[in-house]
Amino acid sequence: MVSRVIPVDPFDLVIFGATGDLARRKILPGLFHRFTVGQMPEGARIVGAARSELDADSFRKMIRDSLLEFAPKLAQESAALEQFLAMVHYMRVDAAGDAGWSGLKDLMRDDVVRAFYLSVSPSLFGTIGGKLHDHGIATAESRIVVEKPFGHDLETAQVLNADLRANFDESQIYRIDHYLGKETVQNLMALRFANALWEPLWNSTHIDHVQITVSESLGVEGRGEYYDKSGAMRDMVQNHLMQLLCLTAMEPPSRFDPNAVRDEKVKVIEALEPVVQKDIARGQYRAAQGEGSYCDHAGDPDSRTESFVAMKVKIANWRWAGTPFYLRTGKKLRGRSSEIAVIFRDPPHMIFPAMEGHKGNALIIRLQPDEGITLRNTIKDPGPGGMRLAEVSLDMTFADALGEQATPQDAYERLIMDVIRGDQTLFMRGDEVEAAWAWADPIIHGWEETRQPPYPYDPGSSGPEEALMLMHRDGRRWREITRKDET
Ligand code: NAP
Repeated sequence: MVSRVIPVDPFDLVIFGATGDLARRKILPGLFHRFTVGQMPEGARIVGAARSELDADSFRKMIRDSLLEFAPKLAQESAALEQFLAMVHYMRVDAAGDAGWSGLKDLMRDDVVRAFYLSVSPSLFGTIGGKLHDHGIATAESRIVVEKPFGHDLETAQVLNADLRANFDESQIYRIDHYLGKETVQNLMALRFANALWEPLWNSTHIDHVQITVSESLGVEGRGEYYDKSGAMRDMVQNHLMQLLCLTAMEPPSRFDPNAVRDEKVKVIEALEPVVQKDIARGQYRAAQGEGSYCDHAGDPDSRTESFVAMKVKIANWRWAGTPFYLRTGKKLRGRSSEIAVIFRDPPHMIFPAMEGHKGNALIIRLQPDEGITLRNTIKDPGPGGMRLAEVSLDMTFADALGEQATPQDAYERLIMDVIRGDQTLFMRGDEVEAAWAWADPIIHGWEETRQPPYPYDPGSSGPEEALMLMHRDGRRWREITRKDET
C-alpha cells in the first residue's frame, strides 16, 4: 500500500523532562518511529532538557538504551537510528534556577516551528512557561505541550490554566489526553460524521443505552502511592472516559476544526446531570493467590481510594434524554480492553418467535486490543427448523481490513506531529478540562463526606457485584470484559 505519510515542517522540539519515564518510554521512541516512516523533515531538531549532567552523546546513549528497553523492534533500525540521533541535542536546564536558559535560547532557530513539551511535574508548568517567556525563548507562534493530570479538582485546574495562560495564548497550549490520539477514537468521528447511515439512528429514539468500558488487567503495583492520591475517578473518568463520552454524544460540528469540535464537546459536559450516589459503584481489589491487595500496593492499609468505578450518567439534552451512558473502568479486572458499545433498542414490534439469549443490535467500537468495529445483527439461523433467529457480527478489525496502514501508531507520536502541524483538534481546551472537573468534583466530594469505603472485588473479575446491580436494576447488563487471549 502506498505510504500516506506527509513530512511536517522543520521544527525545534524541546522536551523538558527528557530523562524521565514518559520521555524514555513514549515520547522519544515515538519520535524515532515517525523518523523511520519519513515524517520527520530534514530540518527537525529535538532538544532534551533536564537537570541531569549529560552531554549530547550521553543523552543519545540514553535514547538508544530506552529504545532497546521499550521498543526493541524499532531499535534494530540501526542506520536510521544514527541519522535520528544526529538530530538530537541536550541542554542542562534547571526549571527552578537559572542554569541553561541562555544556552537554550542560543540553540533556537528563527525560521522553524518551536514547540516545548513539558514532560515534568505540573508544579513546574508555570515556572517553565515564565522562564521561556522571560528569556525570549518562546515566541507568539511557539507551542507548549502539557501532560495530564490537569489538576486534582476544579480549583487546581484553574490555577494550572492560569499559570499556562500567563505566558501563552490558549491557541498555543496543547493539553494531551493520549486517548484522543488513538486511531479508533478518531475513527469514531469518521464513523459518525463521514457516514450518512448512523446519524438518523444516533439518538434516544433508537439507542437504548451506551456502555463505555476501559478495563485494565494490571493493578497499581509500582505506582500505588501516586495512584492513591487520585483513584479511578480522577485518573480515568474525569479525562479519558469523559473524552470518549463526549465524542460519542456530541452534536455534529459544523466543520472539522479544533474549536468547532471542542465547542461541541464542552456542550456535552455542560449537559451532564449531577450523578447521584445510588448510580455509582466504587470498588477496590482485594488480595488473591499470593498477590497483594490494592491497599498493599498503595502502602496504606486503610486506603479508601477506588481502583474501580462504574456509574450511570445522564445527558440532559434533546438527543440523549432517556438514554443513559454507563461508564466503567478499573484495575486488576478480567482483561485489558477498552470499548464503546452502542446498544440499540429492539424493533417496535417483533413478528418472530422470541429468541433465547436475544441481545439485539449493537455497534461496538473497540479501542484495544484488536482495534476495530463490530456490528451485531440478527439473522435467520441457517437450515431447516422454521424461522429461528441467530445473532451474528459484522466484524471489521482494522488490521485485517486496512493491512499495514492499520499498524497501530502510538497515540503520542500522532499527537506530537499534530503539535508541529499546529492542529489542536485532538487536544483538550482549558474550558473543557474545567467543565469536566466541575462535573466530577461533587461526586468525589460526596464520597469524601460519607467516607463510605469502596466495595471489594476479586482480581480477575468484572468488578464488584454492586456494579452488576447498577445495570440489573435498569434491566440491562454489562458486556463481558474480554480477555486478551480470547480475542
Ligand atoms: P519522571 O520520570 O519523574 O520525570 C521527570 C522529569 O523531569 C525528569 O526528566 C527530571 O529530570 C525532570 N525534572 C525534574 N525537576 C526538574 C527541574 N527543576 N528542571 C528541569 N527538569 C526537571 O516523570 P514522568 O513519569 O516522565 O512524568 C512526566 C509528566 O508526564 C508528569 O506530569 C506526569 O504526570 C505525566 N505523565 C506521565 C506518564 C507516564 O507514563 N510516565 C503518563 C501520563 C502522564 P532531572 O531529574 O534530570 O532534572
